[in-house]
Order: sequence, then structure tokens, then C-alpha cells
Amino acid sequence: MKGFKVIGRSAEFVPEERPIPAELLNDSYPYSYTKSDPGTYLLFLTPQALRELDEHIHWNKSDDENMIEQAGYMVGNVYKDPATGRLYAVAEHMVPARDTASSFVHVIIGYDSNIDATNREMKLIEQSGGKLRRVGWYHTHPAFLNVFMSVTDAQTQKKDYFNDWQFALVLNPQALEWRAFHGGDVTEASCIFVVPEGEEYGDVAVFRTSSEDSVLKELRK
Ligand SMILES: [Zn+2]
Repeated sequence: MKGFKVIGRSAEFVPEERPIPAELLNDSYPYSYTKSDPGTYLLFLTPQALRELDEHIHWNKSDDENMIEQAGYMVGNVYKDPATGRLYAVAEHMVPARDTASSFVHVIIGYDSNIDATNREMKLIEQSGGKLRRVGWYHTHPAFLNVFMSVTDAQTQKKDYFNDWQFALVLNPQALEWRAFHGGDVTEASCIFVVPEGEEYGDVAVFRTSSEDSVLKELRK
């Protein structure tokens, strides 16, 4: 094995062209600190993804599990809106990395230390017949921490999620705040939670926010 190096770029992924489905825009709730327009990169979380996320990070609660940092993977797919050129990821599943070695400030997701999570993720991806892929990772900044990408977070993003279609989501389950980023340069992206009207699951309804919806107004045009 001399002179051989795996660089992980064997088959470059090109997102399929598909208009943003109407159901993702109806009854959706965006949130972003710095962006009042959607921009070119968007991350949607489906109701199923939100349910799985809530099961893991216990949105709007404080307990022994979610007062330390938690992390996991986002599984779904990435598309390009042909009319606008916007690149959007649809996260359909959130796979908790439960065994993550966690400190209060930094979470490091290593492939080797999360065999359980990656096995479940691989099963999801295999069963989908190529319809699902890892679109990014998520982690929490609990309690009094702001939602941002720390130096360690940015290093993780640069190392493992350097493609422009790979997203990072940072959430604070107590402050009910979240922010999304994408690519190796860790650029902020719009993040949209899809919370259907009349959703029976309270677990999903708690992801509603009253934040201004100029992002959605622009997308619904
Ligand atoms: Zn962090």
C-alpha cells in the first residue's frame, strides 16, 4: 500500500434537480439569526425528522440527558431547485450518536466511536435503495450556550462535511434556538422546520416558532 491514499472523493455527488415540494413550504417555520432572505442553501427538517430529533434532544425540556451536549447525523437527500438554483437538503431522519464522548462545550463525532449510530444510519441508507444519504450532522449547545459553530465544530465540518451540500445544525433545546451552516467554510444556511397544521404529535408542534417569516414568504413566491 505505498503511494495510495484514500481521499474520499471517489464519486462526486451531484444533487438531482427537483423543485422544492409545496408541502415543505406550507406550515413551515424558519429561523435564522442573520438571514432575512433564504439564500442559496437551505436545510429542511421533515416532521418525522423533528419527532426523532425530539426523542433524542428533548426540545423545550431540561433533564440529565439534554443538559450535556448531544449529537447525531442527518439522513435524507439534497436537491437543486431548477428555477432558482437553490440547493436544499431534506433531512428525513435524525440518527442519535448516543455514545458520543461529550464535554459541555465540545462534541466530537468520530466514525469509530459511533458504531451503533453509523450501523443504524447505514441500514437506513441501504434500505432506501440510494434515496437517502448523510446530509450532515447536528449537535446541541444546551442551557446558557449560544448556538454557533465553535472552533472544534468548524474543524469537524471542514474535515468530514466539506462539500457545499453538507450541513451542520446547532440547537439549544432549552432556549429553543437553532442555526444551520453548510460546507467546509461553515457558511450560515437557512433552516426550516416543517410543522404541519393540525399535527397530532405535540412533540413536533413544540418546534413551532413565532420568529418572522420573511424567508418563507420569499420561498413561497
Ligand atoms: Zn458545538
